[in-house]
Amino acid sequence: MKILVIDDEPFALRLVTRQLQTLGFTDVTTHEHATDAVRTLERDAAAADLILLDLQMPEMDGIEFVRHLARLGFAGGLVFVSGEDQRIVRTASTLARAYALEVRGLISKPADPEQLRALLEAPAPGPKAPPARQFKLYAPREIEGAMSRGELVNHYQPQVEFASGTVVGVETLVRWNHPTDGLVLPEQFVGVAEEHGLIHRLTRLVLAEALRQARRWQDEGSPIVVAVNASMENFSALDFPEFIESAVRAAGVANRQLVLEVTESRLAGDDLMALDIFTRLRLKHFGLSIDDFGTGHSSLAQLRNIPFDELKIDQGFVHGADRDPSALAIVEASLGMARQLGLTTVAEGIEDYADWRHLRRLGCEVGQGFFIARPMPADTFDVWHRGWRQHLHALIPT
Ligand code: C2E
Ligand code: MG
Ligand code: MG
Repeated sequence: MKILVIDDEPFALRLVTRQLQTLGFTDVTTHEHATDAVRTLERDAAAADLILLDLQMPEMDGIEFVRHLARLGFAGGLVFVSGEDQRIVRTASTLARAYALEVRGLISKPADPEQLRALLEAPAPGPKAPPARQFKLYAPREIEGAMSRGELVNHYQPQVEFASGTVVGVETLVRWNHPTDGLVLPEQFVGVAEEHGLIHRLTRLVLAEALRQARRWQDEGSPIVVAVNASMENFSALDFPEFIESAVRAAGVANRQLVLEVTESRLAGDDLMALDIFTRLRLKHFGLSIDDFGTGHSSLAQLRNIPFDELKIDQGFVHGADRDPSALAIVEASLGMARQLGLTTVAEGIEDYADWRHLRRLGCEVGQGFFIARPMPADTFDVWHRGWRQHLHALIPT
């Protein structure tokens, strides 16, 4: 294996080279200047199978070097060696992966021979994962057609109370049952619908079906609160609360059975119409949930301005929070704030047992995520729900 080590400190270069030799790697080239390494790779992009890269360098820094690697289509592995804050190193590797480079790991300085050995002896990953799913956006006319033909379907993802394991609600997530493309996810058509004035119709369709389903569950003796995602555009019609109220009445469920989830960054404190609508929705006892909390889309100012009664912590902070101190800090702060404001807390992105146990211990009230169940059609949900009730004791220590 040909290894290239880049570090502006000669001492660090000597140390790593010696450690590599001890481990049996003798084909090691070192560079004090990243620019020299770029030149080497420009002559022959296969001059290295693996690069150990320092991030902090005075002339060309590691991030700049990564950009060159991407330009040269470097196909080998990349290891970051850095004395920097873990977050910086993590961001660097996210960036490198976004450039389709193969990041093999991170080593903190001074390099520890054991860490180095573990990294170098780990099997090289197989062929690269296929590129992310083809992202096809649909035209407004196609989306209109889908709505007219009744091709939009609601899937429901359970929301479970951590303390008891009881399913307290579901989130409604729209899908498009496309005749030839299969099941199309909302990111491929909801944004387009918002931009082309189709979102009112879409929301009304999704909402009406979700309320009919809520009524079915109620009639079957298991009342479940149904959450529906609303777009900011929905809050630009002053009669939106009246529309919601009549839809709920038509379905024959209580106002408290419906929660509207809102994700929006554009809402300013001076958007009086939206504030008017939000306030009247709460006066009518509909639930109002701030979705994706912690991302750029949901901010603290909105918590103060809008009478939310539920806060959903974004999955980006929830999954793996037990291993990520920055994510954990955000989760804990969000939970603390929600408690002080009297909001129900929901954690999105409960993907594994560690997430479940961790958020439960932190006192979050409700969980949602793949570990509990994926979003599914209503009839599958009913089957799942029976199974969940039978097996849930394993998750709830007495
Ligand atoms: P959201 O409201 O934040 O919904 C949660 C998303 O996370 C869903 O993606 C869900 O499938 C996914 N998810 C659930 N559990 C997990 C987990 O454990 N790990 C991970 N990584 N993901 C999980 P989906 O269904 O693709 O929806 C994406 C977004 O589309 C939603 O995000 C929501 O903003 C929007 N959306 C969905 N349905 C509607 C709708 O009827 N109207 C509007 N306006 N927007 C909708
Ligand atoms: Mg949502
Ligand atoms: Mg969300």
